[in-house]
Amino acid sequence: MARIDPLPTNLSPESLLQSLGVAEPREIDIEAIAYYVGLRVKRRCLKCCEAMITGKGNKGIISVAPGGMPQRERFSIAHELGHWAMHRGETVACRSTDIGKFSKGNEVERAADQYAASLLMPWSLFKAECREHRRLDLKALKAVSAAFNTSQTATLIRMIDSDVYPTAIMISHGAGGKKWHRAARGIPGYWFPKADLHSESFAFDLLHNANAPDQGFPRKIDADAWFDNWAAPKYQITEQSFRVPGEGVITILNLDPDMIR
Ligand SMILES: [Zn+2]
Repeated sequence: MARIDPLPTNLSPESLLQSLGVAEPREIDIEAIAYYVGLRVKRRCLKCCEAMITGKGNKGIISVAPGGMPQRERFSIAHELGHWAMHRGETVACRSTDIGKFSKGNEVERAADQYAASLLMPWSLFKAECREHRRLDLKALKAVSAAFNTSQTATLIRMIDSDVYPTAIMISHGAGGKKWHRAARGIPGYWFPKADLHSESFAFDLLHNANAPDQGFPRKIDADAWFDNWAAPKYQITEQSFRVPGEGVITILNLDPDMIR
């Protein structure tokens, strides 16, 4: 007699959420989803990585290092679920630098991050939440990341990718300077943020002055503080910078709509 496989055959994030009847962000219970696809989640100290997955047949174990922020832990579990859906049959160990960075150099890790974002922040629910906030600023980011229980960095990347904020760019700075940036899809490539921070920018102050508070509201600034192309002096943009633990300083820029026409 053939064994009946109770597991869903389609592990795409959309079909998993549909099978489980998820209709609201707070119903996305990542450990319940893991259980549903045959995985148990264990917290244990891991020597060389932040999370890993081992499996045999239709069963497996996701291990995550304890002590992280709950939002980060949820993203790590969802990331490992991505490996389970797409890279089955391998033992995968993921370093903290692999998870949530949407790594350009590593296809496998980027695919797992994309899967995690789709599972924790499915477009239909996510865009509906974004549309509640007309402008992409820190206040909107906090509201959306609270609704989805996701980290500010992962949430902001998703907001940038959502097409709801066509003029938005996010830039990440660490002690060593600019780390990476991400721009809304329709922004022309020549609006590429400068490598060096303007010494009068809030981001500069946040990076170099441990007591400086986050920037409570977006402020207007000349576009040439952030861009050095020929057209920059013609425009004003808004900037808002804030600290993100484990990431450094993040800045949200909103360009003048004329800059992307
Ligand atoms: Zn990974």
